[in-house]
Amino acid sequence: SSLFEERNNLQAEISRATESLATAHEELKKADQLKSDFLANMSHELRSPITVIRGGINYLSRTLEKEDNKRYAEIIEKNVNRLTHLVSDLFDFTKLEAGKIEWDFSLENITVLIEEVIEIISPLSDQKNLAVDYTHQGDMFVELDFERMEQVLVNLMDNAIKYAYPNTTIEINLKQDNDDALLSIKDHGQGIPEENLKTIFDKFSTVPSVSKGNVEGTGLGLAISRAIVEAHGGRIFAESEIGVSSTFFVRLPIASE
Ligand code: ADP
Repeated sequence: SSLFEERNNLQAEISRATESLATAHEELKKADQLKSDFLANMSHELRSPITVIRGGINYLSRTLEKEDNKRYAEIIEKNVNRLTHLVSDLFDFTKLEAGKIEWDFSLENITVLIEEVIEIISPLSDQKNLAVDYTHQGDMFVELDFERMEQVLVNLMDNAIKYAYPNTTIEINLKQDNDDALLSIKDHGQGIPEENLKTIFDKFSTVPSVSKGNVEGTGLGLAISRAIVEAHGGRIFAESEIGVSSTFFVRLPIASE
């Protein structure tokens, strides 16, 4: 009978533990929601003062006469721009994480989108004397939120340009792979260590040895990109050969007729 008692006691203990786990889980979920709401509100509130400061400092750096003052104004302007970028990434990311993005999907020819993005980033690729080589198999239609997917591709090409060696070629290819459109963006540059290939898509993740240099960032770009691609029913992933090249892939389902 003592065995029987022991079993009953154990069962009671298990159900108490299960209950308190459920309560803890509820509380965690609430705290998590509070955190997301706070971040989303905060990054929204940060935007307006930054916009005002940006306007003011931009005016000053254009109109100041004294060389010294001009130089300081330009340093402030550069940092305000960094802050703007950071806050805007934070805003997008918290909205995506909290599921608060309003999507605007329509049937789009993805080759047109890619051409447009190549055009947008051409001042940056020109600066480093990079050639952009785009190959594809013709029109391919995908259900897209055009602006959001543009943001993904700008981010990937911006990274490709940032980490490529000067005077090299960025290779962009679009092909059909079963029922998917498979886009690849390959740069010839420093590459990404094997152990970082998976985590670079996590929030705030940067590659330590790499980001110590003069390359700066929030580590949110790829996390935002992944959330956007997954909201399209797609996948994003990367391959790399250290010191040689990095290739980022975006796989998206082709729209059925
Ligand atoms: P950020 O927004 O700070 O640029 P991302 O999320 O876009 O951050 O990228 C995360 C990290 O992944 C970068 O800090 C960089 O170390 C690495 N990375 C991304 N793209 C490339 C690339 N094409 N070549 C080498 N490293 C890259």
